[in-house]
This record gives sequence, C-alpha cells and structure tokens, in this order.
Amino acid sequence: MPAGESLDWQEQLSRSLLSNEWPDEFNSIINKLSIGEELSREDGHFLFNSKDLDTIGRIANLVKFARFDNSAFFNVNVHINQTNICTLACKFCAFRRGRRAVDAYSMDIEEYVTDLRNYASHVDEVHSVGGLHPDWDILHYEALFSRVKKEFPEIHIKALTAVEIKHISKLSGISIRSTLERLQSAGLGSLPGGGAEILDDDVRAIICKGKESSSEYLEIHQTAHELGMPTNCTMLFGTVETIDQRITHLLKLRELQNTTGGFQCFVPYPFLPDDSRLPQAQLASGTEILRMIAISRLMLNNIPHIKAYRMNIGDEIAELALQFGADDIDGTVQKESIMHLAGSKAPLDHDKEKLAKIVIDSGSKPVQRNTTYTRFEEYILPKAPARRHLRMAAGE
Ligand code: SF4
Repeated sequence: MPAGESLDWQEQLSRSLLSNEWPDEFNSIINKLSIGEELSREDGHFLFNSKDLDTIGRIANLVKFARFDNSAFFNVNVHINQTNICTLACKFCAFRRGRRAVDAYSMDIEEYVTDLRNYASHVDEVHSVGGLHPDWDILHYEALFSRVKKEFPEIHIKALTAVEIKHISKLSGISIRSTLERLQSAGLGSLPGGGAEILDDDVRAIICKGKESSSEYLEIHQTAHELGMPTNCTMLFGTVETIDQRITHLLKLRELQNTTGGFQCFVPYPFLPDDSRLPQAQLASGTEILRMIAISRLMLNNIPHIKAYRMNIGDEIAELALQFGADDIDGTVQKESIMHLAGSKAPLDHDKEKLAKIVIDSGSKPVQRNTTYTRFEEYILPKAPARRHLRMAAGE
C-alpha cells in the first residue's frame, strides 16, 4: 500500500469526525476536514490562536488514525554529517565551522565508508547532510555515492539538503536538474527536507542570509520529484517568524505537493538556542511544539507523514506528539552532530527496542519502515524473561 496508509482514509475520517461531538467554534474545520477540503489561511490562524489545544490534538489524532490506524513508524538508520566546513554562516547554526577552525573536519571518501561500515550490518539508511564545502563539487559526491552503493547496495542514501544541491550545482557549473540527475545515477535515493527553515524571504534574510530563497527551495524539491526522487520537507520554527509566516510556509508546501505529490514526510522542529547567534528568537514551549505538529497534520492534508523528530524535540515530547497527529518518530540515528551541538539532549544509543518502547508508551503500534515508506514490518517487543528464569539466573 503506498505510504502505508489506509486507502479509504477520507471516508473513515468523515465517519469518525461526524460521530464525535465538537465545540461549536470548530464546526467549519470539522466540516472541511470531513469532506476533504483544504483548510484556509484563516483556519490556520484560528488553530494557532485557539485556547483549546486539547480539541486540536484530538482532531489531528483522528486524522492520523484514519490514515494509519494505530501504527507509528520508525526506521533503522545512521546519520553521518560529512563535513562541518561551510561557506555560509546561518544565524541559527551551531554546527558550521570556518575552514581554519580547530574543530573543522571533512571526511574523505574512505573515512566516510569506514564510518558507515560500523553500522552497515543493521541499518538500511544513511542520512547525510553537512556544510557547504568550498571544494566538494559534483565529482566528489558522485564518487562518494558510487563508492557507498558499491559496498552497501542495500543501504538507501538520503542526503544533501536543497542548499547543498544548489551549492554543488553552482560549484560545478551545471544546472540543478543535471546535478540531481547525476547524483541519482550515482546512488542518491532521496533528499531530506532540511534547509526549508521558514519559506518567507524576509525571515530568511534575518536567519540564513545567502541560503537558497524560498522559491529555490521549492524548485529544487520540485525537480527532484520530477526525476522520481522522493523528498521530505521541514520547518524550523521559533526563531523570528510570525504565525502568518508559518502558515505561508505550510501553504507553499501544500501547493507544491498538489502539483508533484513527491513529499513523503513533513518534519516541523523548533529552534534550539544553545551556542547559536539569534538572541531575538522566541523559543517554542512543549505545548507549542505539540500545537505545531497537530496543525501540520490538519493543514497538510496531502503530505502523508508528519514526523515528531525526536533528535530535536526529545523522546518525551515525541511520545506525546504521537497523540497529536504525528505518525513517525524518525530512526535510530546513532550519531548526530547538528542538533546536538545546538543543545539537543536526545539519546543517540536507541536501538529498535527503545524506539518501539516510545511508540508503545504513546499507545500506538510500532512499525518499522524503510526510507521511502514502501516496506513495513510490525515490531514485536522481545518478551521479558519470565520471573522464574530470573530467579534461577540469580541463583535462587
Ligand atoms: S545551516 Fe547549513 S548552510 Fe547554514 S551555516 Fe549551517 S551548515 Fe551552513
């Protein structure tokens, strides 16, 4: 089944929405959702301003439930951040370094492959994003991806954010389309969604000057979709944006998705302040994160998966988010620098069992998926040893 969702989910959603009682002020939202109509900018403002977060969460959870029943997804992956050397200096970024910094690093192809070898027996995805390295053009990444695919043909390469694609294209003197085509031929399977921040150029001029514009972000993803390459999309919220700009962001993604259908997952995550240079940021609270996730589920009716990115929001909020419309908690990750340098305390030692436990504690059924949501397997927690055996082991 595509994307793991129920085929008649809209029908199921209508039934469940109409068989529940809702506060009157939600009538318009309920009516629209029950006939599959897109929510408007005004609906978005209503949801952001409503004091009734409980109802918003209940509706988002019903939408999630209609699409995916009680399932919540995770995968088994590793993050390898290939370099922290970056020609840009986005204000929110605690990861990038100048070339001469003492802790600047760049992994050559053999170092990268050696690192991946440590995880290759049990992961099916490598997720790689990094800085805009001044020397790494298309030839470097073609060689890297071909090398990875040669040694690990089963591992899906999800790599390079839109700004990295733009950087490689510029450095190599070739078009975005040609860059993506060549990388795809070398083994690139999909693009992560990073770098969307807020798709409003006034916000981008403050927080990430010099990065790709909003329309470039969308064009790069559109080109990937046209080449049959699925992508994710993200939102970095809680910096300097207004609520209206957040809604604009959601509407732009929805509009592109209506054209291409190539986004598989939306990942909203809050700004983490440590060590970065954005003192004017308004930091998101736990309830604001849950509200953002629930509103994403309601506004983005055409993007199947909404991710509670535990690397950023932590295990506890990720668990709660599974009751607020999210259906995915990302993967095992195992090593990660970008969020952790920005202050994330999310544990990196989670195996499948620990991820499944987060899902079960939220009241959902853990399902392991692959990167492209085309293979699924319910994860059954290994049985705890019976007490009698424990006593025997303890010599009783
Ligand atoms: S967010 Fe990306 S592009 Fe911006 S400074 Fe950090 S590594 Fe560079």
